[in-house]
Amino acid sequence: MPKILDRLDKKKDKDIRVLGDFISIFCRENHQAEAKGVFPIKDVRLRHSLGNKDLVLCHNCQKLLNHGITKLLLCPYDPKPMCKKCQTHCYAPSYREKVREVMKFSGLYLVKHGRLDLMFHYIF
Ligand SMILES: [Zn+2]
Repeated sequence: MPKILDRLDKKKDKDIRVLGDFISIFCRENHQAEAKGVFPIKDVRLRHSLGNKDLVLCHNCQKLLNHGITKLLLCPYDPKPMCKKCQTHCYAPSYREKVREVMKFSGLYLVKHGRLDLMFHYIF
């Protein structure tokens, strides 16, 4: 992934952080029975984007996060619009459905737990 990471900017940085946090919450709350591992991050910039922390995720959530980060970085628009308002559906259909489920679940989770500070915006 190193090359496309040159496309990181402030907005994408923030969106990647939200994506990572939301998938983490979703996985933690819904996939207790799954085997989990630390999401591998080789690039220091990406690690920074994800909040300089280890994200412990199941296999499928790691795949989803990886897909999401890749699509975010490859976004042809500048500035990147909110994905939910975008005309280009760049996600593979199964991932798109999954990520929307994740955003909805984790968004509600944060509201219920009074963490509105973390909900700067929904990106999907
Ligand atoms: Zn999971």
